[in-house]
Amino acid sequence: MSKVSKISLEQIVGHLEHARALGVTHLRVSAAEVRAALVAASRPRPMAAAAEHTAPRGPAKAVTTSVKVTQDAVLPLGPSEAELPSEPLAAVEAAAQGCVKCRLSQGRTHIVFGDGDSQASIVLIGEGPGFNEDQQGLPFVGRAGQLLNKMLQSIGLQRGEVYICNIVKCRPPDNRVPLADEVEACAPYLERQLRAIRPKLVVALGGPAAQTLLRTRVGITKLRGRFHSFRDIRLLPTFHPAFLLRNPNMKRESWEDLKLMRRLIDSGFDYSQFD
Ligand code: SF4
Repeated sequence: MSKVSKISLEQIVGHLEHARALGVTHLRVSAAEVRAALVAASRPRPMAAAAEHTAPRGPAKAVTTSVKVTQDAVLPLGPSEAELPSEPLAAVEAAAQGCVKCRLSQGRTHIVFGDGDSQASIVLIGEGPGFNEDQQGLPFVGRAGQLLNKMLQSIGLQRGEVYICNIVKCRPPDNRVPLADEVEACAPYLERQLRAIRPKLVVALGGPAAQTLLRTRVGITKLRGRFHSFRDIRLLPTFHPAFLLRNPNMKRESWEDLKLMRRLIDSGFDYSQFD
């Protein structure tokens, strides 16, 4: 066995996460290393559905599903809603309690499952909980959450009329974006949430959420402003309220997205008027 092959995936992932936390965005690698990585990536991987149960598992197993970073993270959602039976949202939430399917369980205070109307027509999805959300166990409760509430109110919606959740239910350390294997581990909960609620519109809040749900690397500025096909329904990407707090000049575009939402609601979710 060569010297390189003795390095575990766990060590590599830990090193990459540490480097990214320090601000590293690119690594210098040789052509041979790229070829070896491509060969490894082309090998078949187990389906995400196999990771549905919540039994504890060791860290080495937790990193075997993928070493891709967020730009490659896609939500491995299963069959369409019509093909699968739904279950009460409360049952899904109960199933998530105590989950240790990925490393994010290690640093969380609370699982942030979701909040709002269990029969809402609109579900808003962010990428993951932040500090305040982790402390309170509720999504979008910090400054970004307050702005989100105002955004909803600006088009006549109260927070309690929609449902709000995240792609991963536990806070990533230092508010980093979720890694691909974390998204994959948590995907069954979002799958079951959407199946239970059966919304008419999903709103992806921010680039990472939109890219993960739509399985694309296209940036949020290009994705936003129009409805995309998402499973049996439609998805509207828009800016994350935390991004708007940092970039208030983008509120005009955000307002356009909100008005589009309002027009859709007023049409009775008649997408034919928007195609
Ligand atoms: S992020 Fe999701 S899969 Fe990971 S521990 Fe939390 S609930 Fe489980």
